[in-house]
Amino acid sequence: MNHLLLELANMRQTYRKMLNLYWITIVLTVALEYCIHQMEGKPGEAGLLGTLLLQAVGLAAITGITEMLYRYRKVQSDDLMIITGILYASSIIYVNPTIGIVPAIYIFPILTSVLSFNKKRILAAFSLTLVCFAVMYAVTPELRASMQPIHVIGTLFLYVGTTIISLNISVSGIELLNNLRIATEAKQELLVKNVIMDKLSKMDALTDLYNHKTFHEYLEKLVEQHERNHLALQLAILDIDNFKKINDTYGHWVGDIVLQRVANIIKETVTPNDFVVRYGGEEFAVIFTEKTIEQALRITEQIRQKLSVTIHPELDSQAVTISIGLHEYVRGEGKEALFKGADASLYSAKRTGKNKTVVQSRRGNDPKGV
Ligand code: GH3
Ligand code: MG
Ligand code: MG
Repeated sequence: MNHLLLELANMRQTYRKMLNLYWITIVLTVALEYCIHQMEGKPGEAGLLGTLLLQAVGLAAITGITEMLYRYRKVQSDDLMIITGILYASSIIYVNPTIGIVPAIYIFPILTSVLSFNKKRILAAFSLTLVCFAVMYAVTPELRASMQPIHVIGTLFLYVGTTIISLNISVSGIELLNNLRIATEAKQELLVKNVIMDKLSKMDALTDLYNHKTFHEYLEKLVEQHERNHLALQLAILDIDNFKKINDTYGHWVGDIVLQRVANIIKETVTPNDFVVRYGGEEFAVIFTEKTIEQALRITEQIRQKLSVTIHPELDSQAVTISIGLHEYVRGEGKEALFKGADASLYSAKRTGKNKTVVQSRRGNDPKGV
């Protein structure tokens, strides 16, 4: 049987339940047979207890082997389960040959074979049942005496009917499990697609940094958090100097390479707690958390200095520079003011010669260049 179907049908649990059922059946069979003999008025029949004991020991041995194989060898064989069922049924028929309908008990191993969801196995269980019934009929005179031809025909019809029903159940079960598998796979595929779509909507395709939209969402959350928990928060806006000239001189594709390289340098310089975005065009932003303004400034300066010595082969081995505006969040000022503060510092850095970091003091209107 298909392994996936096996998993879906949780066959391991079913197998355990079947084994438990067999153990219970031993006790029930012996008790029932004892009661039947009592009711038939043959309480003192010689050898009855011995026969029942022998039968119980035989059935316990068969079930014990199946149990051991399952427990210690992890054997979970449908064939073994069917054969165990047939031996059970045969022993019950052998001990109770005078009860006319007793061969009907062979339908149980056939029904057991349904659990395999395998047509061949169901047909094998049916064939084995026919052979066993024929053997029992041949070797047990009491059975022959208690069964008239019409009973034999009825019993055979019962086997055929049970087999047909079993085959139908198996086909429907396979269809059901297949549909379930298709539905599960489709759901998983959708889940993966959603995760990918979610990531794509948050990221910038060229630099693989977070995008403008995500930046604003995240900044809003952090500002709220700052207001509640006094979380330290700084924002840096970074703008590549004279980038238009790079595009104009070397082409947009070179501009794109430079953007990717700058993005990588920013990414590898910040700490894992910092949030880097491509704000748009040749502008980037870094949100710093859990840092002092001095620590944030040290990082932005590292970025700036690294870039100023990074040679770009595509730009005839020149470096590009970047200007940075840094601003620390002041409690109660709001997201807009934080952004405007960083932007004002950036403007100041550009106006006063570029390739520098300007940090706005906490009091607001006193930009300091580095
Ligand atoms: P400044 O030093 O004052 O910042 O000057 P600048 O030339 O860097 O700034 P400006 O705003 O004049 O030019 C930015 C350029 O960035 C213009 C635009 O064509 C280019 N740009 C924006 N997005 C992209 C992009 O995705 N790829 C490339 N190659 N260029 C881009
Ligand atoms: Mg710009
Ligand atoms: Mg620029």
